[in-house]
Amino acid sequence: MSPAPSLFVSHGSPMFALEPGLLGPNLLRIGASLSGLAAIVVVSPHWQTRGVRISASASPETIHDFGGFPAPLYALQYPAPGEPRIAAQALGLLQAADFDAAIDTQRGLDHGAWVPLRYLKPDANVPVLQVSMPHDLDAAGALRLGRALAPLREQGVLVIGSGSLTHNLYEFRRHINDPEYAQAFADWIADAVARGDAESLVHYRARAPHAQRAHPTEEHFLPLLVAFGASDVSEPRRVVEGGMTYGILSMDSFGFGLPMTGQAVVA
Ligand code: ZN
Repeated sequence: MSPAPSLFVSHGSPMFALEPGLLGPNLLRIGASLSGLAAIVVVSPHWQTRGVRISASASPETIHDFGGFPAPLYALQYPAPGEPRIAAQALGLLQAADFDAAIDTQRGLDHGAWVPLRYLKPDANVPVLQVSMPHDLDAAGALRLGRALAPLREQGVLVIGSGSLTHNLYEFRRHINDPEYAQAFADWIADAVARGDAESLVHYRARAPHAQRAHPTEEHFLPLLVAFGASDVSEPRRVVEGGMTYGILSMDSFGFGLPMTGQAVVA
């Protein structure tokens, strides 16, 4: 079995489920290029816990963990099976890396997982599990979390950090249209990713332009460091174009160790 890649996927607003934009078709093409996946592990900011929890339900429910959106969003389902065997392996890896880790047999899939997965693997036939984000996770910890999960890739497990490259919901709700600052932040991050510069990414909050404005809180940025941490600097790193939505939400995403295809989906 060949190693599976790791991905950082921007899920932006839950409306992404109904509005594919640029990113939806690109995820669809990437998913189609990935065959023989053993499972998918998703780290999403919409599951934060004390310590790290690993979902191990055999048939995780689709959680509609958002309010005030159009009714069709609440009818969407993602009926992928779980994978308790991989969950047990993730538990061992996280404990070996000194995380306070435990299994959760009840937890379903939050929208940070199922919204992008409906594009990436629309048939929902690859088992999915989630790894939570500890409440006290910081950038260095997120990198360490990704490194701990990296060995799963050797078994064909796709590791996904799901967040948003920029994520100022205050501006989103007020319909602020100021793509320049969000793009400047996104470009700085893309450069650091392209260089494989873990040190700059860990210190993004002090160094990247407009970091505080792009991420008033860190939880939608940290999954990028998980996906980056699960990769090796020798692997190809690629931008997956997602565009700028709602004037301020960058949907750009990143692939690490993606198979080289002829598709012009990435820069
Ligand atoms: Zn989110």
